[in-house]
Amino acid sequence: MSETEEIQLSGKCLCGAITFKARSKDGHVGACHCKMCRTWSGGVLFALQDAHDVTIDGEDNLGIYKSSDWGERCFCKTCGSNLFWRSETFKYLGVMAGSIVEEDKLKFVQQIYTDGSPGYYSFAEPTKNMTEADFVAHITAITKS
Ligand SMILES: [Zn+2]
Ligand SMILES: [Zn+2]
Repeated sequence: MSETEEIQLSGKCLCGAITFKARSKDGHVGACHCKMCRTWSGGVLFALQDAHDVTIDGEDNLGIYKSSDWGERCFCKTCGSNLFWRSETFKYLGVMAGSIVEEDKLKFVQQIYTDGSPGYYSFAEPTKNMTEADFVAHITAITKS
């Protein structure tokens, strides 16, 4: 078995009106500490970093809120579960880790907007950490290529 393994994941909202499937190379999860994500998610936002080939069932039930020039936040219109963050600009779809069924396959590896943390919590896992400036430089470099 190679070090990174392509895995199939599934997810759903609380009420089940929306279900989805996603593939992930390694199940890597990142946390975002920015105020916008914390306000939206009710806590720290945990999202799959490398989800691809995402197929959604029940997309009619998906509510969309444009939260910035960069991206939109997608949620279930019935139960309110937060499911996706997506960006046309960065060709990126972040899948909320809490909606994943196979959570035992996920690994917490990265934290972004660490300078946006309110400071009343911290995580013990060793992760790669980036401030807002670090992350903006990182994603700009990735999407330019
Ligand atoms: Zn729902
Ligand atoms: Zn954020």
